Amino acid sequence: MSPEILVKTPSTSSSFTKTEFDEYVMKTYGRFPLVLERGQGCHVWDDQGREYLDFVAGIATCTLGHAHPAMVAAVTEQIQTLHHVSNLYYVRQQGELAKWLVQHSCADRAFFCNSGAEANEGAIKLARKYGHTVLNIENPIILTAQASFHGRTLATITATGQPKYQKDFNPLVPGFHYVPYNDIATLENAVADLDRDPRQVAAILLEGLQGEGGVRPGDRTYFQRIREICDQTGILLILDEVQVGMGRTGSWWGYENLGIEPDVFTSAKGLGGGIPIGAMLCKSFCDVFQPGDHASTFGGNPFACGVALAVCQTLEKENILANVREQGEHLRSGLKQIAEKFPTLVAEVRGWGLINGMELHAEASLTSADIVKAAMQEGVLLVPAGPKVVRFVPPLIVTAEEVEQVLQSIDGALSTLSA
Ligand SMILES: *Cc1c(COP(=O)(O)O)cnc(C)c1O
Repeated sequence: MSPEILVKTPSTSSSFTKTEFDEYVMKTYGRFPLVLERGQGCHVWDDQGREYLDFVAGIATCTLGHAHPAMVAAVTEQIQTLHHVSNLYYVRQQGELAKWLVQHSCADRAFFCNSGAEANEGAIKLARKYGHTVLNIENPIILTAQASFHGRTLATITATGQPKYQKDFNPLVPGFHYVPYNDIATLENAVADLDRDPRQVAAILLEGLQGEGGVRPGDRTYFQRIREICDQTGILLILDEVQVGMGRTGSWWGYENLGIEPDVFTSAKGLGGGIPIGAMLCKSFCDVFQPGDHASTFGGNPFACGVALAVCQTLEKENILANVREQGEHLRSGLKQIAEKFPTLVAEVRGWGLINGMELHAEASLTSADIVKAAMQEGVLLVPAGPKVVRFVPPLIVTAEEVEQVLQSIDGALSTLSA
């Protein structure tokens, strides 16, 4: 690669075309025809200089928006001092981030990796080792939910209870069993059946709110009963906090909305505010990993951990969770008013804090992608959560004015579409 390519700034890269992109990049994504070049706060600009309000935030990831001074400072400081070493040594920033996470959650210890799927892989391995060594299960099974999403590695697409992600990738990883979400009777029956001599269930892995599956909040009574089952049997309760954690719901963790504590939980997306990092956290009683059991070259390096710590401290210091609750209410009540205006189109508005979904009627001819495209025309970026749900996951620093602007744009987009 010639050095001048490396020093190109966004403003000089306008020769880049979509055709060229498709020639060199694998087509694993269906992409909207948009090239984003710059961001500031909740706003992004495309290569034509057009401005958008970013209510995608890298899919619930850029919690502090774009180019936040605290992130700029942390990134600069880490890259100028030390960005990567190895877990052969003690990494101060890793210890500091682990301490922050433990002090702000129900967990006792953390393992760091680079993504949500990888965090869930770690949790799956931990559950299996716990099953073998503590529960004396020969072939541990993990229960997961239909319509869930846990990542794209082989084990995590198997954990994901959606056939569309598994199609063509057989053979899948053994040891998973699916149950319908928010249905306690079926879950109790599944545990009873599978644990009828010898016991097999090592863990139950769930999202507190199903994100990709359509922004579906969990029921408190469902999760509280699962907590009781796990307490009675020793089955581990693992929560996937990748999308709902790190303040997105107005609490630090999604499980706080359910009035329970998991034994193990995973984090990624918002954890680094857009810098790749993942974490798997657990209580000390199930911390069965020994040196050599699990590892990651990049996991927990000074760069990712130093930036993630700055993100955590900024969220806390600036009391951003209060903003999440306030603007979450604002957005939801505005979307509900819009839903009342378009009753044949919108079936329901739901969510926690700043993760919200607008579900279209199953019979409506429009899909969530149609709404997303119309909103883009109005200067607002949104992301589908399945074919009928439009997801709103803005940066957590979003202002009342920005929420108001998005509500007006959605109203405009729906008016145009239903005309
Ligand atoms: C996005 C997501 C993942 C996967 O995270 P990656 O970083 O893409 O591997 C896992 N679980 C949930 C709930 C997610 O929303």
